[in-house]
Amino acid sequence: MSNSQPADTLKKSLPQHTKIFIGLAVGIVLGLLCNALFADAAWFDKLLRNVIAPFGQIFMRLIFMAVIPLIFSALVLGVAELGDVRQLGRVGMRTLLFTIVLTTISVIIGLTLVNIVKPGVGLEGPDRDALMSTITVSAKATIEKAAQAKSVVQTILDLIPKNPLSDATHAFDDNYTGGGILALMFFSLFVGIALAMVRSQRTIVFEQCLQGLYDVVMKIIGIAMKMAPYGVAALVMVVAARLGLNIIVLLGKFVLVVLVGLLIQMLIVYSIVLKYAVGVSPWKFLKNIQEVIITAFSTSSSNVTLPVSLRVTEHNLKVPRNITNFVLTLGSTANQNGTALYEGVVVLFLAQFFGVELGITQQITVVLASILAGIGTAGVPGGSLPVIVLVLQSVGVPGEAIGVIFGVDRILDMSRTVLNVTGDITVAMFIAKSEGAELKL
Ligand code: ASP
Repeated sequence: MSNSQPADTLKKSLPQHTKIFIGLAVGIVLGLLCNALFADAAWFDKLLRNVIAPFGQIFMRLIFMAVIPLIFSALVLGVAELGDVRQLGRVGMRTLLFTIVLTTISVIIGLTLVNIVKPGVGLEGPDRDALMSTITVSAKATIEKAAQAKSVVQTILDLIPKNPLSDATHAFDDNYTGGGILALMFFSLFVGIALAMVRSQRTIVFEQCLQGLYDVVMKIIGIAMKMAPYGVAALVMVVAARLGLNIIVLLGKFVLVVLVGLLIQMLIVYSIVLKYAVGVSPWKFLKNIQEVIITAFSTSSSNVTLPVSLRVTEHNLKVPRNITNFVLTLGSTANQNGTALYEGVVVLFLAQFFGVELGITQQITVVLASILAGIGTAGVPGGSLPVIVLVLQSVGVPGEAIGVIFGVDRILDMSRTVLNVTGDITVAMFIAKSEGAELKL
């Protein structure tokens, strides 16, 4: 490459993940700068609200609109391609067991750290007052949502959709009380199983149609991802500009406990799995999934990140397509290690903050609820907040307490979503290996 090469040719040759990374860095720096300079300026607030935030939303929505057809086609094809029901049963059981094991480890890491550091105990005086004043309207809205919670029996029943189309249309609707995306997945699993069982000329045509749908949806997402460097910049700029560094410092110990917990799971637990159970280099693994990590971080949504993780896992990591489709699609909702860890830490932190002593039964309740939350929480920004309110109330901490952590929730949401999707890909690698796939990294 000669030095005289024009700048735009150079720009074109930058790989996509580098461009997204640059977008991320620019967004953070600009956001923090603007926070320091114009945090109180009305015009800046307007600019954020009317221009920069909507721009980021355009990027998110372009992907969101493809998620439902993607989940349906990927899951049906994944299941049908797994072929016989016995292999499906084996892969399904292993995925479930491994998910539960990883989620449990993640929750235990979080709870251990929060019990050692006790981030909620030392907060007194003005810091405490400042935090109490953050219990706002938004906390109340979350509590109202949590109040609509259903019984366990109803929750399980709702997994089986009466009308899968209704669950698909309301999958990202906060106020929907049906099974939503999990019910859609249940339906897709069944269609896949039935498709694998009825092999005829006509079902082959149906399968090819689904394959066509899958390809088209992936193309749409490919087009949307061209916007990613700018979309990512806008999304993180809004967070950095609104948040600044103050609130992070105020809740410093809590933020650190969450981040250290997430890092331990990501860099130690997953690395052990990848190195010893899968036999690949954890470092190369992380390098190959950079684009997934940045997308998860900037969008705070496992569901929005799903198309990117499907592509990267199949192409960069060479995990067979049927396993990628099956494990990642289910995992985008049902395997959320970061969310589970966070739920546990938040509940214990707020109990410490409000001086509520949790006995051993209540701590066990928190562990179980966090594991379930990792499985049941929607893969959308802030998906875990209503669940946190429920767990808080069940252990005797007022639901309003969640307002204390609202200020830092978004940045921690971005971070836990990274762990959520990295966990999905780790499970896919593990399952692929156990099914005899050759994985070289
Ligand atoms: N934002 C998370 C995800 O999509 C869910 C949550 O923890 O709120 O993975």
